[in-house]
Amino acid sequence: MAQEPGAASSPPAAPYDRRIDPLTGEAAVIVAKRQARPNLGEGMHTASTVACPFCPGGVEAPEDYDVKAFTNRWPSISDGRCEVVLYTSDHDASFASLGVDGARKVVDLWAERTAALGGRDDVAYVLVFENRGPEVGATIPHPHGQIYAFPEVPPAPRRELDEAACALCGVDPGPRLVHAVGGWRAWVPDAATWPYALLVAPDAHEPDLPGLGDAGRTGLAEVLVDALGRLDALFDAPMPYMLWFHQRPTDGGAWPTAHLHVHVAPLYRSPGTQRYVAAGELGSGMFFNPVDPDDAAAALRDAGGDRQ
Ligand SMILES: [Zn+2]
Ligand SMILES: [Zn+2]
Ligand SMILES: [Zn+2]
Repeated sequence: MAQEPGAASSPPAAPYDRRIDPLTGEAAVIVAKRQARPNLGEGMHTASTVACPFCPGGVEAPEDYDVKAFTNRWPSISDGRCEVVLYTSDHDASFASLGVDGARKVVDLWAERTAALGGRDDVAYVLVFENRGPEVGATIPHPHGQIYAFPEVPPAPRRELDEAACALCGVDPGPRLVHAVGGWRAWVPDAATWPYALLVAPDAHEPDLPGLGDAGRTGLAEVLVDALGRLDALFDAPMPYMLWFHQRPTDGGAWPTAHLHVHVAPLYRSPGTQRYVAAGELGSGMFFNPVDPDDAAAALRDAGGDRQ
């Protein structure tokens, strides 16, 4: 193909070392440099400490703040594509303890950062996520999440987006509904892959965080405060979880099936007992969930009962 006069003779360096396994077709990003990052989680799981980089006065937060986003100094993807989002200046808070007003500030920041990163020409997908607890590798216990801005639409959201129709419009969780508030619902999926997995979505076909109006943002704050509070109440201990948003790609495509939602994958299947994804599951590509989703939903509904 002929090049434009003055065009670079080689494409810009990719922001990450993404490889596709020829046997499995699965994507892996090699981030060997991250092995050097600090592990500050040891012994810091509950107590406040001045050593925390996210506490006011810490290395990442010199001033006091409500919520705050900044570029991750240990990025998995280069070019300012990885950000850290601090939910509160309170080291010992949880998402639920933020309350609706505090959570709404986090929602607004998620939306703002999605718009800012997604507005870049070299960003096709903004993934907002959280790893909570040392069990899922959160190296700093201070309440925070992360954002990755991808140069492409990654495989997991892509599979959902490629469906012919929206799978969330008109969905009826039935007995698996856990909570409904402010135009949002949280429910245990019929084919849940984690024992107390939750799906959280607006009733309306809202494509992304930046597009949410005032009521939609408050509704998201309300439903997340409730749902994540139930997970902590379930076994009367902070529930380690992985949480991620799926939203419309930012590559300018229409993506008509994009319906904003949150996946929550809690780690425990009973008090103190972690659920592992093991060989039978990785080997078969099928998850074996030891808790009936109907029972999980009932337990989560009960777990909220004495808080409200
Ligand atoms: Zn802290
Ligand atoms: Zn929809
Ligand atoms: Zn999804």
